[in-house]
Amino acid sequence: LSKEEQAVLDEIDERNVDFLRLQFTDILGVVKNVSVPAHQAEKAFTEGIYFDGSSIEGFVRIQESDMRLVPDPETFAVLPWRSGEDGSAAGRLICDIVDTDGEPFVGGPRQVLKSVLAKAEEMGYSVSIGPEPEFFLFKTDDEGNATTIPHDSGGYFDLAPKDLASDVRKEIIFTLEKMGFEIEASHHEVAEGQHEINFKYDDALTTADNIATFRAVVRAVAAQHDLHATFMPKPIAEINGSGMHSHISLFDEDGNAFADDSDEFNLSETAYQFMGGILNHAPAFTAVTNPTVNSYKRLVPGYEAPIYVAWSDTNRSALVRVPDAAGISARFEVRSPDPSCNPYLGYAALIAAGLHGIETDADPGDPVREDIYEFDDEKREEYGIETLPPNLGAAVEALEADEVVSDALGPHVSEKFAEAKSQEFSEYLTQVSDWEKDRYLETF
Ligand code: GLU
Ligand code: MG
Ligand code: MG
Repeated sequence: LSKEEQAVLDEIDERNVDFLRLQFTDILGVVKNVSVPAHQAEKAFTEGIYFDGSSIEGFVRIQESDMRLVPDPETFAVLPWRSGEDGSAAGRLICDIVDTDGEPFVGGPRQVLKSVLAKAEEMGYSVSIGPEPEFFLFKTDDEGNATTIPHDSGGYFDLAPKDLASDVRKEIIFTLEKMGFEIEASHHEVAEGQHEINFKYDDALTTADNIATFRAVVRAVAAQHDLHATFMPKPIAEINGSGMHSHISLFDEDGNAFADDSDEFNLSETAYQFMGGILNHAPAFTAVTNPTVNSYKRLVPGYEAPIYVAWSDTNRSALVRVPDAAGISARFEVRSPDPSCNPYLGYAALIAAGLHGIETDADPGDPVREDIYEFDDEKREEYGIETLPPNLGAAVEALEADEVVSDALGPHVSEKFAEAKSQEFSEYLTQVSDWEKDRYLETF
């Protein structure tokens, strides 16, 4: 056992951990757990724990289904919301997936991100990402099912205590802190019932792990208050949706490779090249960072979500915004990702796009200072501003047409992903919505 692995075993003993949740995500970003008694931890580290990969979305065929979960000791955490009467607790470990030949499984989303980060490392960089996940807290009905009624709507005659929202948020934050998160800020968002909690930036792999954990914690704490937390990008029409802005910077041996104090926006040549790569490949990575039919209901004008492939230092209608920061904090914010994405695949796609920008000396052009929501087609054409794909179907086509992003995901994942998402979109196209019925039923 490595030193880290031994430390986990010691902590399991000390903290009376009796069960371990071995956690991983499928291609669609859904968190899966295999629970094992804690005394299996040593075996998990040395041999891995077998599971049937054929039952996991997008993994493997039945004939090659013996896969193993190998826990990453650095991801050990004791789950704060379960401790037994005898003081026993449950632990959590995030796992890599190993195939029958003992090789890292190419279809594992965490492995996909690791491969892209290995490429960044070859180029001399480590990648930092700070996410800003937004979500809604909704009431549940008498049966415990989620509604879309905001918990803090405070309507006429509503006697609910006004600070319920901040109480729940505080408890979410305390729980996250117990699990080792460093919370930077949290606030009520624009829409009723909508919140944002920002945690400290970290290397991209840790941040992706953290997002998976974050979503689970938020939902668990909300459920304890009979609320449903949703990361669905646009649960209610005509108000703001939920994004997951991601602040990116690259570090090399000299520090922040995105920083250049002599530049008007404090960004280096490398930062602009990376940004150019992001803008060039934006239509393709959108399928991954915005992977649901509903994602495209958020990417519409007027709700602080981007539609236009451009960058800006001032306005929030652009895909990339440069915050007022310098030196170690110099960075930019990619505003399109939403919290329904698989964070491993989403970041793999974004980073691959940016690295390709560095390799090809990509140029992001000039910043757009005006509100692009107000532009007409002619003006957009004059500025050479493209739009993001209008729906999931178009996004999947853009992904399939882009070698850089597809290669970053690898043939296994890009194929399975495109297949699952095309099917999701086709199914959606055959549905008849309430909007259609309201609009046409009595008119025709
Ligand atoms: N909720 C907005 C979105 O859909 C973002 C609001 C903000 O700027 O934080 O991305
Ligand atoms: Mg926000
Ligand atoms: Mg932001």
